[in-house]
Amino acid sequence: MVQSEMSFYNSSQSSTYKQQPILYIVVPCYNEEEVFTLTVEHLTEVMTSMVQEQLVSRESRLMFVDDGSRDTTWLQIAAARRENPWVTGLKLARNAGHQKALLAGLMYAKEFADCVVSMDADLQDDTGVVRDFVLRYREGYDVVYGVRRSRETDTWFKRWSAEKFYKLMQRMGVNTVYNHADYRLMSKRALEHLAEYKEVNVFLRGIVPLIGFRTTVVEYDRHERAAGESKYPLKKMLSFAWEGITSFSVKPMRIVTMIGFLSLGASLLAAIYALMSKIMGMTVSGWTSLMVSVWFIGSIQLLALGVIGEYIGKIYNEVKHRPLYVIDEVLHEQPSAAAAPWKEAGWKE
Ligand code: UDP
Ligand code: MG
Repeated sequence: MVQSEMSFYNSSQSSTYKQQPILYIVVPCYNEEEVFTLTVEHLTEVMTSMVQEQLVSRESRLMFVDDGSRDTTWLQIAAARRENPWVTGLKLARNAGHQKALLAGLMYAKEFADCVVSMDADLQDDTGVVRDFVLRYREGYDVVYGVRRSRETDTWFKRWSAEKFYKLMQRMGVNTVYNHADYRLMSKRALEHLAEYKEVNVFLRGIVPLIGFRTTVVEYDRHERAAGESKYPLKKMLSFAWEGITSFSVKPMRIVTMIGFLSLGASLLAAIYALMSKIMGMTVSGWTSLMVSVWFIGSIQLLALGVIGEYIGKIYNEVKHRPLYVIDEVLHEQPSAAAAPWKEAGWKE
Protein backbone atom coordinates (compact mmCIF):
# COMPACT_ATOMS: atom_id res chain seq x y z
CA MET A 1 0.00 0.00 0.00
CA VAL A 2 1.12 3.51 -0.71
CA GLN A 3 1.01 6.00 2.10
CA SER A 4 1.54 9.68 1.76
CA GLU A 5 1.80 11.94 4.74
CA MET A 6 -0.66 14.76 4.95
CA SER A 7 0.73 16.12 8.12
CA PHE A 8 4.30 17.25 8.45
CA TYR A 9 3.87 17.96 12.08
CA ASN A 10 5.90 15.42 13.93
CA SER A 11 4.73 15.17 17.47
CA SER A 12 6.57 13.03 19.93
CA GLN A 13 5.12 9.57 20.18
CA SER A 14 2.67 9.66 23.00
CA SER A 15 1.73 6.70 25.15
CA THR A 16 -1.88 6.96 23.95
CA TYR A 17 -0.99 4.93 20.88
CA LYS A 18 -1.06 1.43 22.24
CA GLN A 19 0.93 -1.26 20.56
CA GLN A 20 -1.94 -3.70 20.93
CA PRO A 21 -4.99 -1.46 20.75
CA ILE A 22 -8.56 -2.52 21.24
CA LEU A 23 -9.97 -2.12 17.74
CA TYR A 24 -13.66 -1.77 16.98
CA ILE A 25 -14.84 -2.05 13.40
CA VAL A 26 -18.13 -0.19 13.08
CA VAL A 27 -20.39 -1.17 10.21
CA PRO A 28 -23.69 0.61 9.55
CA CYS A 29 -26.21 -1.74 7.94
CA TYR A 30 -29.45 -0.82 6.26
CA ASN A 31 -31.36 -3.69 4.66
CA GLU A 32 -28.17 -5.63 4.17
CA GLU A 33 -29.49 -9.18 4.66
CA GLU A 34 -28.11 -10.32 1.32
CA VAL A 35 -24.54 -9.44 2.09
CA PHE A 36 -24.44 -9.70 5.86
CA THR A 37 -23.23 -13.30 6.27
CA LEU A 38 -20.44 -12.68 3.82
CA THR A 39 -19.41 -9.49 5.59
CA VAL A 40 -19.28 -11.17 9.00
CA GLU A 41 -17.20 -14.01 7.59
CA HIS A 42 -14.79 -11.62 5.99
CA LEU A 43 -14.38 -9.34 8.96
CA THR A 44 -14.04 -12.26 11.37
CA GLU A 45 -11.13 -13.45 9.28
CA VAL A 46 -9.54 -10.01 9.30
CA MET A 47 -10.01 -9.68 13.05
CA THR A 48 -8.75 -13.18 13.90
CA SER A 49 -5.60 -12.80 11.88
CA MET A 50 -4.81 -9.42 13.43
CA VAL A 51 -5.31 -10.78 16.94
CA GLN A 52 -3.12 -13.78 16.15
CA GLU A 53 -0.42 -11.44 14.91
CA GLN A 54 -0.81 -9.50 18.16
CA LEU A 55 -1.55 -6.36 16.19
CA VAL A 56 -4.73 -5.70 18.13
CA SER A 57 -6.09 -6.73 21.49
CA ARG A 58 -8.33 -9.74 22.06
CA GLU A 59 -10.97 -7.39 23.32
CA SER A 60 -11.44 -5.98 19.83
CA ARG A 61 -14.91 -6.30 18.35
CA LEU A 62 -17.00 -5.95 15.23
CA MET A 63 -19.93 -3.62 15.81
CA PHE A 64 -22.86 -3.79 13.42
CA VAL A 65 -25.27 -0.89 13.61
CA ASP A 66 -28.69 -1.75 12.28
CA ASP A 67 -30.06 1.49 10.89
CA GLY A 68 -33.75 0.61 11.24
CA SER A 69 -33.65 -2.08 8.55
CA ARG A 70 -36.94 -3.45 7.35
CA ASP A 71 -35.54 -6.86 6.46
CA THR A 72 -33.89 -9.56 8.59
CA THR A 73 -30.62 -7.69 9.12
CA TRP A 74 -31.08 -7.30 12.88
CA LEU A 75 -32.11 -10.94 13.32
CA GLN A 76 -28.96 -11.91 11.51
CA ILE A 77 -26.82 -9.65 13.68
CA ALA A 78 -28.38 -11.19 16.80
CA ALA A 79 -27.83 -14.70 15.44
CA ALA A 80 -24.22 -13.93 14.55
CA ARG A 81 -23.64 -12.61 18.04
CA ARG A 82 -24.70 -15.95 19.55
CA GLU A 83 -22.08 -17.94 17.71
CA ASN A 84 -19.36 -15.42 16.94
CA PRO A 85 -17.54 -13.88 19.91
CA TRP A 86 -16.34 -10.89 17.87
CA VAL A 87 -19.80 -9.70 16.92
CA THR A 88 -21.65 -6.97 18.77
CA GLY A 89 -24.73 -5.09 17.61
CA LEU A 90 -26.52 -1.80 18.00
CA LYS A 91 -30.05 -1.31 16.74
CA LEU A 92 -31.38 2.13 15.96
CA ALA A 93 -35.06 2.68 16.61
CA ARG A 94 -35.64 3.89 13.06
CA ASN A 95 -33.78 4.64 9.87
CA ALA A 96 -31.57 7.59 10.74
CA GLY A 97 -29.44 7.52 7.60
CA HIS A 98 -25.91 6.33 6.99
CA GLN A 99 -24.07 9.24 8.62
CA LYS A 100 -26.08 9.20 11.81
CA ALA A 101 -25.99 5.42 12.08
CA LEU A 102 -22.24 5.56 11.70
CA LEU A 103 -21.98 8.30 14.32
CA ALA A 104 -24.08 6.24 16.72
CA GLY A 105 -21.70 3.32 16.30
CA LEU A 106 -18.59 5.48 16.69
CA MET A 107 -19.89 7.17 19.80
CA TYR A 108 -20.83 3.85 21.38
CA ALA A 109 -17.58 2.16 20.42
CA LYS A 110 -15.32 4.95 21.67
CA GLU A 111 -16.14 4.02 25.26
CA PHE A 112 -14.52 0.63 24.80
CA ALA A 113 -12.04 1.01 21.99
CA ASP A 114 -8.61 2.58 21.56
CA CYS A 115 -9.28 3.04 17.87
CA VAL A 116 -12.27 2.55 15.61
CA VAL A 117 -12.48 1.74 11.91
CA SER A 118 -15.69 2.59 10.07
CA MET A 119 -16.67 0.77 6.89
CA ASP A 120 -19.67 -0.08 4.78
CA ALA A 121 -21.44 -3.40 5.03
CA ASP A 122 -21.19 -4.23 1.35
CA LEU A 123 -17.46 -5.14 1.24
CA GLN A 124 -16.78 -2.48 -1.39
CA ASP A 125 -13.91 -1.24 0.69
CA ASP A 126 -10.93 -3.56 0.68
CA THR A 127 -11.00 -5.12 4.16
CA GLY A 128 -7.29 -5.96 3.87
CA VAL A 129 -6.29 -2.36 4.54
CA VAL A 130 -7.72 -2.40 8.06
CA ARG A 131 -4.34 -3.88 8.92
CA ASP A 132 -2.57 -0.87 7.37
CA PHE A 133 -4.89 1.47 9.25
CA VAL A 134 -3.86 -0.17 12.53
CA LEU A 135 -0.18 -0.02 11.62
CA ARG A 136 -0.50 3.71 10.97
CA TYR A 137 -2.31 4.12 14.28
CA ARG A 138 0.54 2.35 16.05
CA GLU A 139 2.92 4.83 14.45
CA GLY A 140 1.00 7.59 16.17
CA TYR A 141 -1.63 8.76 13.72
CA ASP A 142 -5.01 9.76 15.09
CA VAL A 143 -6.93 9.73 11.84
CA VAL A 144 -6.19 7.46 8.89
CA TYR A 145 -8.23 8.10 5.75
CA GLY A 146 -8.90 5.30 3.30
CA VAL A 147 -8.62 6.80 -0.17
CA ARG A 148 -9.77 5.06 -3.34
CA ARG A 149 -7.01 4.47 -5.81
CA SER A 150 -9.26 4.17 -8.81
CA ARG A 151 -12.94 4.05 -9.48
CA GLU A 152 -12.86 1.54 -12.26
CA THR A 153 -15.46 -0.68 -10.65
CA ASP A 154 -17.96 2.17 -10.34
CA THR A 155 -20.36 2.99 -13.13
CA TRP A 156 -19.30 5.96 -15.24
CA PHE A 157 -22.17 7.95 -13.79
CA LYS A 158 -21.10 7.30 -10.21
CA ARG A 159 -17.54 8.21 -11.10
CA TRP A 160 -18.54 11.39 -12.87
CA SER A 161 -20.97 12.50 -10.18
CA ALA A 162 -18.48 11.73 -7.40
CA GLU A 163 -15.80 13.79 -9.11
CA LYS A 164 -18.17 16.71 -9.58
CA PHE A 165 -19.17 16.36 -5.95
CA TYR A 166 -15.60 16.70 -4.65
CA LYS A 167 -14.88 19.60 -7.00
CA LEU A 168 -18.03 21.42 -5.94
CA MET A 169 -17.29 20.89 -2.28
CA GLN A 170 -13.80 22.27 -2.79
CA ARG A 171 -15.15 25.30 -4.60
CA MET A 172 -17.65 25.91 -1.84
CA GLY A 173 -14.82 25.97 0.65
CA VAL A 174 -15.60 22.64 2.31
CA ASN A 175 -12.43 20.84 3.22
CA THR A 176 -12.79 17.14 2.39
CA VAL A 177 -10.25 14.46 1.52
CA TYR A 178 -10.42 13.67 -2.19
CA ASN A 179 -11.85 10.24 -2.98
CA HIS A 180 -12.33 9.40 0.65
CA ALA A 181 -15.70 8.07 1.69
CA ASP A 182 -16.29 6.99 5.25
CA TYR A 183 -13.66 4.28 5.37
CA ARG A 184 -11.27 5.49 8.05
CA LEU A 185 -9.65 4.84 11.37
CA MET A 186 -10.00 7.25 14.25
CA SER A 187 -8.25 7.10 17.60
CA LYS A 188 -10.12 7.35 20.86
CA ARG A 189 -9.09 10.96 21.43
CA ALA A 190 -10.09 11.99 17.91
CA LEU A 191 -13.50 10.42 18.57
CA GLU A 192 -13.79 12.22 21.86
CA HIS A 193 -13.32 15.48 20.01
CA LEU A 194 -15.74 14.40 17.31
CA ALA A 195 -18.29 14.03 20.10
CA GLU A 196 -17.97 17.77 20.76
CA TYR A 197 -19.46 18.60 17.38
CA LYS A 198 -23.08 18.93 18.35
CA GLU A 199 -24.53 19.77 14.95
CA VAL A 200 -27.61 17.92 13.78
CA ASN A 201 -26.64 17.90 10.13
CA VAL A 202 -24.00 15.24 10.31
CA PHE A 203 -21.52 15.29 7.47
CA LEU A 204 -18.60 13.32 8.87
CA ARG A 205 -16.32 13.83 5.89
CA GLY A 206 -16.41 17.54 6.53
CA ILE A 207 -16.18 17.38 10.31
CA VAL A 208 -13.31 14.92 10.72
CA PRO A 209 -10.75 17.13 8.88
CA LEU A 210 -11.76 19.99 11.20
CA ILE A 211 -10.54 18.07 14.23
CA GLY A 212 -6.90 18.03 13.17
CA PHE A 213 -4.22 15.89 14.85
CA ARG A 214 -1.79 13.78 12.89
CA THR A 215 -3.49 12.35 9.85
CA THR A 216 -2.41 10.18 6.97
CA VAL A 217 -3.98 8.34 4.05
CA VAL A 218 -3.88 4.74 2.92
CA GLU A 219 -4.85 3.99 -0.66
CA TYR A 220 -6.98 1.02 -1.57
CA ASP A 221 -8.91 -0.44 -4.46
CA ARG A 222 -12.64 -0.21 -4.33
CA HIS A 223 -14.54 -3.36 -5.30
CA GLU A 224 -18.04 -3.80 -6.53
CA ARG A 225 -20.78 -4.34 -4.01
CA ALA A 226 -20.57 -7.98 -2.86
CA ALA A 227 -24.36 -8.46 -2.84
CA GLY A 228 -27.57 -6.48 -2.60
CA GLU A 229 -27.98 -3.05 -4.11
CA SER A 230 -26.84 0.48 -3.38
CA LYS A 231 -28.75 2.34 -0.68
CA TYR A 232 -27.60 5.59 -2.22
CA PRO A 233 -29.71 6.22 -5.29
CA LEU A 234 -29.32 9.52 -7.18
CA LYS A 235 -31.87 11.30 -5.02
CA LYS A 236 -30.05 10.44 -1.80
CA MET A 237 -26.72 11.31 -3.37
CA LEU A 238 -27.95 14.76 -4.35
CA SER A 239 -29.40 15.41 -0.94
CA PHE A 240 -26.14 14.23 0.63
CA ALA A 241 -24.19 16.72 -1.48
CA TRP A 242 -26.62 19.49 -0.66
CA GLU A 243 -26.41 18.67 3.04
CA GLY A 244 -22.64 18.71 2.86
CA ILE A 245 -22.51 22.11 1.22
CA THR A 246 -25.17 23.80 3.29
CA SER A 247 -23.78 22.44 6.56
CA PHE A 248 -20.32 23.71 5.91
CA SER A 249 -20.50 26.73 3.74
CA VAL A 250 -22.21 30.09 3.55
CA LYS A 251 -21.02 30.48 -0.03
CA PRO A 252 -24.45 30.01 -1.62
CA MET A 253 -25.54 33.13 0.27
CA ARG A 254 -22.43 35.02 -0.75
CA ILE A 255 -23.35 34.23 -4.33
CA VAL A 256 -26.66 36.06 -3.84
CA THR A 257 -24.80 39.10 -2.56
CA MET A 258 -22.48 38.93 -5.54
CA ILE A 259 -25.37 38.72 -7.99
CA GLY A 260 -26.81 41.77 -6.20
CA PHE A 261 -23.64 43.74 -6.85
CA LEU A 262 -23.46 42.58 -10.44
CA SER A 263 -27.03 43.56 -11.15
CA LEU A 264 -26.47 46.93 -9.48
CA GLY A 265 -23.71 47.44 -12.04
CA ALA A 266 -26.02 46.25 -14.77
CA SER A 267 -28.72 48.63 -13.56
CA LEU A 268 -26.28 51.50 -13.97
CA LEU A 269 -25.65 50.45 -17.57
CA ALA A 270 -29.38 50.03 -18.14
CA ALA A 271 -29.98 53.51 -16.73
CA ILE A 272 -27.38 55.01 -19.07
CA TYR A 273 -28.89 53.17 -22.00
CA ALA A 274 -32.43 54.24 -21.10
CA LEU A 275 -31.44 57.87 -20.63
CA MET A 276 -29.51 57.90 -23.91
CA SER A 277 -32.51 56.48 -25.72
CA LYS A 278 -34.73 59.11 -24.16
CA ILE A 279 -32.38 61.94 -25.09
CA MET A 280 -32.24 60.65 -28.63
CA GLY A 281 -36.03 60.57 -28.61
CA MET A 282 -36.34 56.89 -29.36
CA THR A 283 -38.67 56.03 -26.49
CA VAL A 284 -42.31 56.07 -25.64
CA SER A 285 -43.21 58.04 -22.57
CA GLY A 286 -42.87 56.16 -19.27
CA TRP A 287 -40.40 53.61 -20.59
CA THR A 288 -37.29 55.26 -19.19
CA SER A 289 -38.54 55.63 -15.64
CA LEU A 290 -39.90 52.07 -15.62
CA MET A 291 -36.69 50.66 -17.03
CA VAL A 292 -34.46 52.45 -14.53
CA SER A 293 -36.56 51.69 -11.50
CA VAL A 294 -37.10 48.00 -12.32
CA TRP A 295 -33.37 47.41 -12.58
CA PHE A 296 -32.53 49.49 -9.59
CA ILE A 297 -35.15 48.09 -7.26
CA GLY A 298 -34.32 44.55 -8.38
CA SER A 299 -30.66 44.90 -7.58
CA ILE A 300 -31.26 46.62 -4.26
CA GLN A 301 -33.53 43.75 -3.25
CA LEU A 302 -30.91 41.19 -4.16
CA LEU A 303 -28.27 43.06 -2.22
CA ALA A 304 -30.52 43.37 0.80
CA LEU A 305 -31.23 39.65 0.68
CA GLY A 306 -27.54 38.95 0.51
CA VAL A 307 -26.83 41.14 3.52
CA ILE A 308 -29.60 39.47 5.52
CA GLY A 309 -28.16 36.17 4.37
CA GLU A 310 -24.77 37.14 5.76
CA TYR A 311 -26.28 37.63 9.18
CA ILE A 312 -28.26 34.43 8.99
CA GLY A 313 -25.00 32.75 8.05
CA LYS A 314 -23.42 34.08 11.22
CA ILE A 315 -26.35 32.89 13.33
CA TYR A 316 -26.18 29.55 11.62
CA ASN A 317 -22.52 29.18 12.46
CA GLU A 318 -23.15 30.20 16.05
CA VAL A 319 -25.99 27.80 16.72
CA LYS A 320 -23.85 24.90 15.68
CA HIS A 321 -21.78 25.34 18.84
CA ARG A 322 -18.75 23.87 17.25
CA PRO A 323 -15.74 23.55 19.51
CA LEU A 324 -13.40 26.47 18.89
CA TYR A 325 -10.18 24.51 19.11
CA VAL A 326 -8.75 21.12 19.92
CA ILE A 327 -5.67 20.77 22.11
CA ASP A 328 -3.21 18.23 20.85
CA GLU A 329 -0.49 18.11 23.49
CA VAL A 330 0.19 19.85 26.78
CA LEU A 331 3.58 20.61 28.22
CA HIS A 332 2.67 21.52 31.75
CA GLU A 333 2.93 19.97 35.19
CA GLN A 334 0.20 17.69 36.41
CA PRO A 335 -2.11 19.45 38.91
CA SER A 336 -0.46 17.95 42.00
CA ALA A 337 3.00 19.17 41.08
CA ALA A 338 1.63 22.45 39.79
CA ALA A 339 -0.02 23.21 43.12
CA ALA A 340 3.16 24.40 44.74
CA PRO A 341 6.09 24.43 42.36
CA TRP A 342 8.07 26.70 44.69
CA LYS A 343 8.19 23.93 47.30
CA GLU A 344 10.25 21.84 44.96
CA ALA A 345 12.60 24.74 44.52
CA GLY A 346 13.04 24.86 48.29
CA TRP A 347 11.37 28.25 48.83
CA LYS A 348 9.46 29.14 51.96
CA GLU A 349 5.72 29.72 51.71
N1 UDP B 1 -26.69 2.73 5.05
C1 UDP B 1 -27.27 3.01 6.30
N2 UDP B 1 -28.43 3.75 6.30
C2 UDP B 1 -29.01 4.25 5.18
C3 UDP B 1 -28.38 3.99 3.94
C4 UDP B 1 -27.22 3.25 3.91
O1 UDP B 1 -26.77 2.60 7.33
O2 UDP B 1 -30.05 4.90 5.29
C5 UDP B 1 -25.43 1.94 5.04
C6 UDP B 1 -25.46 0.75 4.10
O3 UDP B 1 -25.98 -0.39 4.75
C7 UDP B 1 -23.99 0.58 3.77
C8 UDP B 1 -23.46 2.00 3.80
O4 UDP B 1 -24.42 2.76 4.51
O5 UDP B 1 -23.30 -0.18 4.75
C9 UDP B 1 -23.24 2.60 2.41
O6 UDP B 1 -24.37 2.41 1.61
P1 UDP B 1 -24.27 1.89 0.10
O7 UDP B 1 -23.23 0.85 -0.01
O8 UDP B 1 -25.63 1.50 -0.34
O9 UDP B 1 -23.81 3.22 -0.66
P2 UDP B 1 -22.89 3.31 -1.98
O10 UDP B 1 -21.64 2.51 -1.69
O11 UDP B 1 -23.68 2.73 -3.09
O12 UDP B 1 -22.61 4.78 -2.14
MG1 MG C 1 -21.57 0.67 -1.12
